[in-house]
Amino acid sequence: MTQKRRLGIMGGTFDPIHHGHLVAASEVAHFFSLDEVVFVPTGISSHKEGRKVAAAEDRYLMAVIATASNPRFSVSRVDIDRPRPTYTVDTLRDMRRIQGPGADLFFITGADALEKMLTWHDTEELFELAHFVGVTRPGHRLADPGLPNGRVSLMEVPALSISSTECRDRVRSGEPIWYLVPDGIVQYINKRDLYRS
Ligand code: ATP
Ligand code: MG
Repeated sequence: MTQKRRLGIMGGTFDPIHHGHLVAASEVAHFFSLDEVVFVPTGISSHKEGRKVAAAEDRYLMAVIATASNPRFSVSRVDIDRPRPTYTVDTLRDMRRIQGPGADLFFITGADALEKMLTWHDTEELFELAHFVGVTRPGHRLADPGLPNGRVSLMEVPALSISSTECRDRVRSGEPIWYLVPDGIVQYINKRDLYRS
């Protein structure tokens, strides 16, 4: 029997994508022997309503720029092309459909996001669709894991206390974001004049 493909899915707003995201994906890919990690920028998010988010097309292109040099990284439009708010279960159902039965899905997410996820509806189906990998960020501890056995793993990634929020704040106040994000992202943000106002 041929081995199933092991596919990582890294969902996020990626506003902008930064080295924390990339290191997390790379670490999980290594330790879970993933064949590929697909970055899935959110479309109309069901959880980040309220804040103004950069255009989906800009976030998508930044994800493409940041992942282009890694043969195991790719970017999917499934969420940004969806005409209604996306829940994680939608993303996973779509990826399942696209990938067929020959793939095992690993959903990579921050431990903070994972904690929130456990309060959502549909969690049963979520854990049937994919194995969940929660990456812990510096300064974050799971308060009460209460995680379903066998379907969720927690993994520590090297301490990168980078967030998109901090990158946006820095751009707004004229501080550098070099080395927090890939060079091409610094240049893209300048070119498109993102986050300045
Ligand atoms: P924001 O500051 O706008 O919330 P963010 O930096 O958390 O942005 P998201 O696009 O929300 O970025 O994150 C996508 C996923 O990556 C989430 O699951 C998040 O928990 C995880 N993540 C974000 N930053 C890091 C980091 N530095 N290390 C590991 N995982 C991270
Ligand atoms: Mg976040």
